Amino acid sequence: MQQVWSRLTRAVLEASRLYFRKAADALQLAPLVREILLTPFRIVKVELVVEDDDGALLHFNGFRVQHNRARGPLKGGLRYHPTVDEDESIALASLMTWKTAVVDVPFGGAKGGIDCDPGKLSTRVLNALTRQFVERIKDVIGPTLDIPAPDVNTDARVMGWIMDEYSKYAGFSPGVVTGKPLQLFGSPGREEATGRGVMIALEEALGEKKRALAGTTIALQGFGNVGRHAALLLAERGAKIVAVGDHAGGVANEQGLDTAKLSAWVLEHRTVKGFPGGDAFAGPEVLQWNADVLIPAALGDVLTRDNAERVRAGIVVEGANAPTTPEADEILRRRGVTIVPDILANAGGVTVSYFEWAQNIQQFRWELERVNAELERTMRRACAAVAQVAREMRLDSRTAALVLAIRRVAEAAMARQALTHPIRL
Ligand code: NAD
Repeated sequence: MQQVWSRLTRAVLEASRLYFRKAADALQLAPLVREILLTPFRIVKVELVVEDDDGALLHFNGFRVQHNRARGPLKGGLRYHPTVDEDESIALASLMTWKTAVVDVPFGGAKGGIDCDPGKLSTRVLNALTRQFVERIKDVIGPTLDIPAPDVNTDARVMGWIMDEYSKYAGFSPGVVTGKPLQLFGSPGREEATGRGVMIALEEALGEKKRALAGTTIALQGFGNVGRHAALLLAERGAKIVAVGDHAGGVANEQGLDTAKLSAWVLEHRTVKGFPGGDAFAGPEVLQWNADVLIPAALGDVLTRDNAERVRAGIVVEGANAPTTPEADEILRRRGVTIVPDILANAGGVTVSYFEWAQNIQQFRWELERVNAELERTMRRACAAVAQVAREMRLDSRTAALVLAIRRVAEAAMARQALTHPIRL
């Protein structure tokens, strides 16, 4: 399925800064520490020139922003899209720093990519461009330095090329990237990891309210990598997926949709629209569906001041990155809606990326059962830690997740310094 990742608009960028400020205020973080935490460790920009299939020259920019490496090697996706630039990479790199810290995997945050439109490039040109990019950034990436992963318009195939090119300089190095094909030392369970993490995060949120997944009704926006796997796993545990909306339409069934059949339908038709096992509706209506839980798992910026009053679910689990604007966040909280924030809810993917890297550097392969058990343990521990911070500091869960993350990163950063006068965090 084509990857349709969140459109990180300037508004989303500003939202992430606003959420950071709120958490930094709650922590009463010293101004210098805020500055240290917001400033990227390193920004790399390289020029890329390749020949197209007719021999004409093509000219692009490649970026890699390394935000914060206090807690370990840097980790984050590479995106191939004409809008890729330094600002976007900085914002997304910092989100990765907080996400890896919330689930306590030993990585910092990075992001980057190339400002190209891969849809207009042949496989040969894309391969040459990727290899030139690796050649230009090879000194700042590596299994102990910075480990890229797939993002918008990059996939397991591109990761395989990166591993191959990097290994020419550094020797066999599967740990230089994650999200690789299984036959090139990818990890079992990586594909469904984000959806599995969403399922676990919801189960934990329900548990806080002494409720269980069985019988809980769920409305879902997006039935791609995240939404589809989340739906299959949730239904397996007795939850009822009563409505799914996507880019083309929606389908609803009060008795619960048959998620296995819907999954097969979507893999064939690339949309839920037309699925015979339910009633059709216009896709965006799913956000206001009468269900216990809403899972936005498609685009960013979908819950806004215009529709937040009409959300009927009591729990929102952010499978997508940045689906809720700060205004909507405010409205939902005022209305008593529980929000499981993106840096916690969709962190299952980067968690299993960590397991992939751990397997690679040990030259050892885990069974799927072990991957899933470790993912479950990591997610449940992170959910409990966020809930504890929320309780102790009387914070909403988004601010609590950020407080937990910022505190972990700040403590690691400060512990690396020989401070005569320790800074109060
Ligand atoms: P995907 O491309 O596999 O699926 C995207 C889904 O969104 C599809 O069902 C598509 O129909 C739907 N969609 C697209 N435009 C829409 C619109 N205008 N209205 C309603 N639905 C629309 O993408 P994915 O990998 O499932 O990612 C979904 C979200 O989760 C993104 O925000 C992404 O950043 C986030 N995320 C993904 C992962 C991962 O591991 N895949 C990890 C963390 C976060």
